[in-house]
Amino acid sequence: VLAVQHLKKVFGKNEVLKDIDEAVENGQVICLIGPSGAGKSTFLRCLNMLDQPTSGAVIFEGDDLTKLDEKHLDQMREQMGMVFQSFNLFPHKTVLENIKLAPMKVKGVAESAATADAHRLLQQVGLDDKADAFPASLSGGQQQRAAIARALAMNPKVMLFDEPTSALDPEMVGEVLKVMQDLAKAGMTMVVVTHEMGFARTVADKVWFMADGYIQESATPTDFFDHPQTERAKDFLAKIL
Ligand code: ATP
Ligand code: MG
Repeated sequence: VLAVQHLKKVFGKNEVLKDIDEAVENGQVICLIGPSGAGKSTFLRCLNMLDQPTSGAVIFEGDDLTKLDEKHLDQMREQMGMVFQSFNLFPHKTVLENIKLAPMKVKGVAESAATADAHRLLQQVGLDDKADAFPASLSGGQQQRAAIARALAMNPKVMLFDEPTSALDPEMVGEVLKVMQDLAKAGMTMVVVTHEMGFARTVADKVWFMADGYIQESATPTDFFDHPQTERAKDFLAKIL
């Protein structure tokens, strides 16, 4: 569903992504890991064109996103859900309103249908009792689960996660990872930047290890964690495991 070809991204003289060719298959869960500053967030932002690639192609559902005008690009972006480290909920709207806003405004879904769908999604992430709460009254883990429900409300073909649990207190990490694991089991295509190696090991179909501007290794979790090929990956794993 999603692929990059000769993807490059340069900030000034800083070559962050040098030449990346990878593809995500339908239903696959990719965990993107690597040292701080490796370009993981930049890569994810290039996938939905929040960052404009310097060169190369981003192919999503057969279209090269780098070639689309703004209107078509927005239409494609609607099909990619994104969840960040910070929760980014609208503070003056309830959880339910946060979730139904985009389907109603962007897709023109009727309020009754959007409300029913929002309740279904809140149930899915274990938050149906918080529908009428405001974000500030929720814990970090609850806010992040609401943010996931909001992204899912647009019925995306792929979900992009950038360190969704990094800003959470440790006791709340598990509940968010559980929601993501359920989503993976249900067949969602996902690209997840994470430092949660346990999650990568158990949920990922593939681990991509990024360093020095390249995907250095693309392997099954077992192969990657038990038999890393490159010195760069061995060094990284030695530091974190
Ligand atoms: P972390 O694990 O710390 O989140 P990362 O792998 O996500 O790191 P990026 O945030 O993608 O790394 O950053 C990669 C490099 O690109 C860094 O050197 C960073 O300073 C640079 N960079 C990122 N965004 C910009 C920007 N908007 N302008 C200039 N440089 C940027
Ligand atoms: Mg990052």
